[in-house]
Amino acid sequence: MSTTPILLTPGPLTTAEATRRAMMRDWGSRDPAFIALTAELRQRILTVANGEGTHAAVPLQGSGTFIVEAAIATLVGPADRLLVLVNGAYGERMVAIARRMGRAVEALRWPEDRAVEPGAVAEALRADPSITHVALVHCETTTGILNPLPAIAAAVAGEGRALLLDAMSSFGALEIDLSATPVTAVLASSNKCLEGVPGIGFALVRPEALERAAGASPSLSFDLHAQWKGFESDGQWRFTPPVQVVAALVEALRLLEAEGGPAARRRRYADNLATLLAGMRRLGFEPFLEEAVQAPIIATFRMPEGRPLAFRPFYDALAERGFLIYPGKLTRAETFRIGCIGALDRRDFERLLLAVAEVMAALEAA
Ligand SMILES: *Cc1c(COP(=O)(O)O)cnc(C)c1O
Repeated sequence: MSTTPILLTPGPLTTAEATRRAMMRDWGSRDPAFIALTAELRQRILTVANGEGTHAAVPLQGSGTFIVEAAIATLVGPADRLLVLVNGAYGERMVAIARRMGRAVEALRWPEDRAVEPGAVAEALRADPSITHVALVHCETTTGILNPLPAIAAAVAGEGRALLLDAMSSFGALEIDLSATPVTAVLASSNKCLEGVPGIGFALVRPEALERAAGASPSLSFDLHAQWKGFESDGQWRFTPPVQVVAALVEALRLLEAEGGPAARRRRYADNLATLLAGMRRLGFEPFLEEAVQAPIIATFRMPEGRPLAFRPFYDALAERGFLIYPGKLTRAETFRIGCIGALDRRDFERLLLAVAEVMAALEAA
């Protein structure tokens, strides 16, 4: 494919041309101009979540998983105990990370089509005072399900524990208000709802939690306390920063502000989702989730029943028409996923639906 495809994935995703253009120059990583860009980046990600004055922004080179690993390694100490609330693959990944880091961890699990229940969380915490930290995935990208953040955060804070929030696929679009919601650390990355390019993860962390974590991480690179101290001392990244990715992310954050902030972005994504769900239903595809728990981020569809449609030829035929969809990540049902996020609007989804109809007719005729 020679032209840029439309990415209907959970990231990397379709970016604005201005964001890609921001990468067309070089930066000296220790030059004042880049230090100022880094300061703008740290400021802007705090603003997105209303975290000025309460949280510190700590960007880290790498993908989203890197920042989750760094946060668990740094903030969950050797004497602490982590409870992960799991209803999908990203929750399971946090359990695996904590085990690798040698941290005490356990999981409370729900089926993939059910949201985490705040009452059950409060009960589990009351039953086990040795749990110090709770980890939650805001939008479980495995299915696209939304977990009720405000109620879970209140339950965790009510029991006096710290909450680590994987907001990878929600940050920048779904509401996260750190001035009203008690969260110790929010984790996200450059290439999902912020519509930047891949290469940066970041944490917004309460400074008290960082101070308490000095020297706790068993990893030199995945040490959020040391990374934070680096930024605080001279405004610079500890190790080589992905300079073009920083420039693209700052441009993407300016575009987010110009669009009207996370609330406006959420409305655009919700419109994308509504267009997609209505059109796919007409074509015979049932969404995996009930609408009440579906976040406007990514939708999971079942393969139509009684019709021999395999994922691979379906994928290839759509790719030929310029649309890249995403495989399912479920253990049980045969599914695929279509993202609603990225620099896309309703018209892109209307064109996608025409392509899906065309592809189905061609595959059924074959
Ligand atoms: C994408 C994602 C991750 C992992 O990010 P990578 O960039 O693939 O490492 C973690 N959690 C959630 C909820 C995600 O959507």
